[in-house]
This record gives sequence, C-alpha cells and structure tokens, in this order.
Amino acid sequence: MVDSQQKSNARTPRHGVRMTHQRQMILEALESCEGFVSAQKLHARLQKDGSTVGLTTVYRALAGLERAGLADLLRDDTGERLYLRRPTDEHRHYLRCRDCGSASPLDADPVEQWAHRIAQTSGYTNLEHTLELTGVCAGCHDHGRSGTNPRQ
Ligand SMILES: [Zn+2]
Ligand SMILES: [Zn+2]
Repeated sequence: MVDSQQKSNARTPRHGVRMTHQRQMILEALESCEGFVSAQKLHARLQKDGSTVGLTTVYRALAGLERAGLADLLRDDTGERLYLRRPTDEHRHYLRCRDCGSASPLDADPVEQWAHRIAQTSGYTNLEHTLELTGVCAGCHDHGRSGTNPRQ
C-alpha cells in the first residue's frame, strides 16, 4: 500500500531534475560560492548556515544539477569532483587555480569556432567538447605556496 503511494507521488520529468526544496537550497548555496567547490565544502557551508542536509544528499543533488546543466563539473588532481554554478545556459570554459580552486570563465570563441567547423566538415552531429586550463593564480603565486609546483 505504502509502496504504490510513493510511486505515484514520484513525478519525474523526462529531462532535468525535480527541483526539490533541498536541491533549490543546494543550488543557492552553490551560487554563493566563488569558484569551484567540492561536495564536502558545500556541505560544511550548508551546515554552518544551520542546514541539516546530509553529505550524501549534497553529492546526489550536485550530480543531478550537473546532469541538468545547472552546474559545471571539474575533477581536481586527486580526482575529486568540483562543482560550479553555471552562470547561463551556454557552456563555458574555465581557467582554474590548482592551489585555491578559484576559477574564472574564459573567452573561448576560437575554440567554439573550431569545434563548429569540425562539426560541419566531419558529418558528426551532437558534437561536444570539454576544455579546461589549470595553473597557479596570481594570488597563490605571490604567497609562494604553490606546493604542487614541481619547479625547484
Ligand atoms: Zn589560487
Ligand atoms: Zn566550448
């Protein structure tokens, strides 16, 4: 009895994610972050704001937001997933600091034009691409704490 009732309540749209109250909250928290954040960081931030949302929920919500095109996903050097609220619907490329994780969107018109040309000449449809640039930002460089820098 209870099972069938739960099923009928689960209205899942064909595309996108259900915007539950928790997802909305997590999306807003993500929006207020500067640069890419991990689920754990975002979870800590939510807890500080008095939220009781669990870490697993944050993980799931972020993955859902990424699938829905509301967030961008990167992996850092350790393979951890980092998320950033996507400012608009269009896809972006970012320059990300390996030390502090701050990121800024790039003007990647040449890349987009190149990709567009490939799409036209290759006969492929639904072409997608990913491109990320990482480095050490000016702030981190000044502090001289670029621990991951192999230069010696
Ligand atoms: Zn930095
Ligand atoms: Zn692109």
